[in-house]
Amino acid sequence: MQTNIAQSYKAKASVQAAEEILRKCVHCGFCLATCPTYNILGDELDSPRGRIYQIKQVLEGEQATPVTQLHLDRCLTCRNCETTCPSGVQYSQLLDVGRAVVEEQVPRSIKAQFMRWGVKAVLPHPGRIGPLVRAGQLFKKILPDQIASTIPDRRETGMVPGNQHPRQMLALPGCVQPSMSPGVNAAAARVLDRLGISLISANSGCCGAINHHLNDHAGGMDFMRGNIDAWWPAIEAGAEAIVMTASGCGAMVKDYGHLLSDDPDYAEKARRVSELTKDISEVLHNENLQQLKLDPAVVADQYQQIAFHPPCTLQHGQQLAGRTEAVLSQLGFGLLPVDDVQECCGSAGTYSIFQPAISKTLKAKKLANLHRSKPDYIATANIGCSLHLQSATETPVVHWVELVDRALV
Ligand code: SF4
Ligand code: SF4
Repeated sequence: MQTNIAQSYKAKASVQAAEEILRKCVHCGFCLATCPTYNILGDELDSPRGRIYQIKQVLEGEQATPVTQLHLDRCLTCRNCETTCPSGVQYSQLLDVGRAVVEEQVPRSIKAQFMRWGVKAVLPHPGRIGPLVRAGQLFKKILPDQIASTIPDRRETGMVPGNQHPRQMLALPGCVQPSMSPGVNAAAARVLDRLGISLISANSGCCGAINHHLNDHAGGMDFMRGNIDAWWPAIEAGAEAIVMTASGCGAMVKDYGHLLSDDPDYAEKARRVSELTKDISEVLHNENLQQLKLDPAVVADQYQQIAFHPPCTLQHGQQLAGRTEAVLSQLGFGLLPVDDVQECCGSAGTYSIFQPAISKTLKAKKLANLHRSKPDYIATANIGCSLHLQSATETPVVHWVELVDRALV
């Protein structure tokens, strides 16, 4: 695609990178068929190609309008289009630049600003979200169904192993997961313990994705730098990996190297952190799984009807399609066929808060596909997808590593 970037943007490094991405797009339209918002809304402006075109127009000097902003806001950032694109267009990087430029040109309403501020003020902070979740759990019975369905029941985490193995990996507790689903990292710690690996916690927090995807890039980078500082002593001491049990965070942390590449104090450390970051499925895939010692009777009796939902951040963001399924199959778990497995469930970080109608449509579609084979469990790999799906189904939705943990002898 030919470009003619406006003089006022030409000097910006981010826009130069965006121009390179724009030039890769050949307008073939292959990405349209796999774009969830295009499939639902049927409008080219809500497709990857349409959004790329709108970003190009704005970078070439055309004034962005609230309509441009709406079409960009409606993008789930699911990156399904990146998986489909034969030209290697890094759409999500382009979208980051486009959204930032449009945000400068189109002011949001007071209500929208307040909502975005509220989400950023609460969600990325475990010390704020935790008490709210606990209060919600306490008063769940008297809350309206719509709110109550989003609050998970309190679950026991079980014992966390105290063994100190020579092999150590870092964990990212994250922001929402510790209060909404504290058992996930505890389960990962028990599973890794069987493999002779200690999962250690440093004082890390939110990965930065919430702020980053709400166009607060500076706020997102503050979280990133904070995590790097928290992890660095353990990395210098020889930690082998930084293990992610939420694929949304994993996709973000794997991007630290790119996002902080212009920061002279953090660029090198960020690159190293991204290099060390592994989804828990990648870690297990490289280990001798015989060491786990699962109870074959438990696996055979209880875990043969599992519908796996691979989050977009796992299959498209991290390009790890099939990895978790391979681990679960190797361990003897029974996975059911699921139609349209590549499609987003509609959670997409804070998307379900800001685009509830599209999000609900996608959730219903995803659950229909997951329920088709009548699973005993829906397993996934990201806290956002897990909570989003659980809010509309009686079938237990769990992180797959929790199932592996439950089958340990
Ligand atoms: S598939 Fe790739 S090259 Fe083709 S229109 Fe979509 S983004 Fe552009
Ligand atoms: S990221 Fe997802 S929703 Fe956005 S344009 Fe690509 S396929 Fe469509």
